[in-house]
Amino acid sequence: MGFGVAYRERVIQIPRVQRLGLFGGSFNPVHLGHLLVARAAMEELILDRLFFIPASQSPFKPVVELAPAVDRLRWLRLALAGWTRCEVDDQEIRRGGVSYTIDTVREYARRFPRAWLGYLIGADHVAQLPKWRAADELAGLVEMVVIPRPGEALGGVPAPFRARQLRGFPLGVSASQVRERLKAGQPVDGLVPAAVAEALRNNRLYL
Ligand code: ATP
Repeated sequence: MGFGVAYRERVIQIPRVQRLGLFGGSFNPVHLGHLLVARAAMEELILDRLFFIPASQSPFKPVVELAPAVDRLRWLRLALAGWTRCEVDDQEIRRGGVSYTIDTVREYARRFPRAWLGYLIGADHVAQLPKWRAADELAGLVEMVVIPRPGEALGGVPAPFRARQLRGFPLGVSASQVRERLKAGQPVDGLVPAAVAEALRNNRLYL
């Protein structure tokens, strides 16, 4: 005997919170360490979109040796060709001057008010977080996502920041190392994406 009660299943659609990764840096030039950060973040955080945001000028880095923004943008686009869900955002370049993360993050919070925002940083940047402009407001708007970097200790993240740590694919490559090799006439194949190595060979910017 059945229950005799018509039972109709109702599916209630609860919209999923969009998960966005923000990856700022000088990208001077972009290298494979950056791409491995992106790969780890996409997978471990299950990101819907990941934005690479090249700084016009970092508040913490000297401008000497900083390649023109137009070149850094072009190398990023070459590096990310075919990377679905990864995008290059040139807003800091368009704003010009010194780039402050809070200005960029405010813009994302305004554009995606219901999204989860994760801000990616290498372990080498964690200690400096309290010095970032409007640190309290920034800490309220994003969760920091710390990526291991060879040679950098993984300690706690300073208050008031919230953070999570990725396993990542630690790779000891840096943009300074790439620039030094170019200056010394050494190849950078294998350290940067092939198309970027080709572009760097052709424009000889860091010589
Ligand atoms: P430079 O050597 O010129 O200081 P960089 O290689 O650190 O540059 P940035 O463009 O300044 O590159 O880095 C952007 C972000 O990516 C930073 O948060 C940095 O910590 C992180 N990052 C860069 N390289 C790596 C790497 N190999 N592993 C993990 N994080 C990295």
